[in-house]
Amino acid sequence: MFFSAVAAPVKGRVLIVEDEAAIREMLGYALIKEGFQVEEAGDVEQARPLIARQKPDLILMDWMLPGISGMDYARRMRNDPQTRDIPVIMLTARSDEADKVRALDTGADDYITKPFSTRELLARVRALLRRAASGPTDAVVTFAGLKLNTETFRVTADHNPVDVSPTEFRLLHFFITHPERVYSRAQLLDQVWGQNVYVEERTVDVHIRRLRKTLEPFGYDRLIQTVRSVGYRFSAM
Ligand code: CA
Repeated sequence: MFFSAVAAPVKGRVLIVEDEAAIREMLGYALIKEGFQVEEAGDVEQARPLIARQKPDLILMDWMLPGISGMDYARRMRNDPQTRDIPVIMLTARSDEADKVRALDTGADDYITKPFSTRELLARVRALLRRAASGPTDAVVTFAGLKLNTETFRVTADHNPVDVSPTEFRLLHFFITHPERVYSRAQLLDQVWGQNVYVEERTVDVHIRRLRKTLEPFGYDRLIQTVRSVGYRFSAM
């Protein structure tokens, strides 16, 4: 039997973009203790060169930042091929449901309200990284005129490029590989977000809405059908 004496491997690189030094340090400390490699930036201007040098595996981004806000930057990241696949967790002092929806709508994959426990935050970081890492096996899947490539993370609709966030990508991939069956919100959370994730079922609706909006210009939003009081179905019929 082997007893490993080596330190736990690095679990991934996390970039913290937060202007409040105390929160930044608290987050950095908690993440480093968990085996993550951490980089810190006080605003978007500081974050950009860090991201350009080496893509982080995940970004913890404060909503309210001096200069370009975290919300604006998350939106810009989704429109940039270099950054669109980096998972983002938005940190915010707002607890409004409408703000939460807005955060997810503009490109964040998850959202956490201050004050939060480091335990909850770490659980979400791990869940999101797991989601990003446990990629599907078939490189290319298609349905109707939609095509997903899991190696390049590209989506096309009738050969037109479609911009999707990592969560939308996973959701769409799940639907394409599991058509014609109705899934409840809880089942979709398990399948797409992963088990033991503290995500409300309402999050599913937000991402479904976002995915429909993304597919709408190509007419494929109709593939995602709402089955009243049950959940959702992906179907060409
Ligand atoms: Ca702030």
